[in-house]
Amino acid sequence: MLREEFINAKRIVIKLGTNVLRNADGEVAISRIYSFIEDMSKLVKQGKEVILVTSGAVGLGKKRLNLDSTAEDGVKQACAAIGQSKLMSFYESGFGIYDIPIAQILLTEDDFSLRYRYLSLRTTLNKILEFGVVPIINQNDTVSTIAMNPLMAGMKVNFADNDKLSALVASELDADLLILLSDINGLYTENPKTNPNAELIREVECVTDEIMALGTDASEGGRGGMRTKLEAAKLVTRFGGKVLIANGKIPYVINKIFEAEEIGTMFLPTSENLPDKKRWIGYATNIIGGLVVNEGAKKAILEQCSSLLPIGILNVVNDFNRGEVVSIMDENNVEFARGMVNYNSQECRKIVGSHSNNIEIILGYKNYDAVITRDNITGLL
Ligand code: GLU
Repeated sequence: MLREEFINAKRIVIKLGTNVLRNADGEVAISRIYSFIEDMSKLVKQGKEVILVTSGAVGLGKKRLNLDSTAEDGVKQACAAIGQSKLMSFYESGFGIYDIPIAQILLTEDDFSLRYRYLSLRTTLNKILEFGVVPIINQNDTVSTIAMNPLMAGMKVNFADNDKLSALVASELDADLLILLSDINGLYTENPKTNPNAELIREVECVTDEIMALGTDASEGGRGGMRTKLEAAKLVTRFGGKVLIANGKIPYVINKIFEAEEIGTMFLPTSENLPDKKRWIGYATNIIGGLVVNEGAKKAILEQCSSLLPIGILNVVNDFNRGEVVSIMDENNVEFARGMVNYNSQECRKIVGSHSNNIEIILGYKNYDAVITRDNITGLL
């Protein structure tokens, strides 16, 4: 695919990482921030819709208070509150020069995992874009404990970093392109810090397990790393969007990208374009419960897009309510799909392994033949 195609992208999500918004000494990278704003304003003037996902609040707050560490309870949250307004003051004054209004949106994982909030957020963002305003999004770190404690037990974390957040926003808004700008050039064949022969990969057709294995850990200051960027790329390309990972320290990088310069690593959309509800089930929800299923059920779900019947279920993991999204795992406990359940965990435990005709005899009632209906299942492989 040619880089020229970027020029045609209409709806673009741009994510700026902490390390491109501040300099090595932790100070705000003012000239770089204004050059991003200049480039983004140009895109808006061309009639494109730009959604900005910005990091940097915690870093700027920490600098503002001259703190060495944010480890103590509540300090990161406090820094986020202090840094966020500073961050927005740059965007307000910069976009103001080009007469482009901006809107601040701070999000937590519940805004995605609760469907009514997800739908309301989508309506609002679309309205903001219709008004020709640039939405500027960050995690609401001040109240979001998950972002601060990504290892909360038993929960598959929805987003703990802005890479995932930007991918969810791109998915929710059906964006054509997600650009992730940080201090790395893109994806390399090896770790470039340790191997001088590592080569930059220009184009990735599909985010396979081999590609995922190239991901390394988080960079200093930010919460994401190559791994979270690859996860973001996987999510976005699956719903038909393109992704570019590039170095935000290249002067006027956004402008160069839209002049089709060969910058960074481009991830191509896979052919699949999931309907909105399936995207939400697959990617936007917090998962606590799970169902372990047999090989036959796995095959039927992945190959024939079948519903999940009780007869194919081997085991019920954790507790969940009717209508919640759960993990669907194979016999090795590997998650291969997610789905919204028609029965709660107690009911599931009673009907596991049974024929659907017996549901009524066992429970005394029957809502559905299937524990998860096919329209409510999203394969993850
Ligand atoms: N939301 C965080 C901040 O504004 C950054 C999260 C990340 O680095 O991904 O500081």
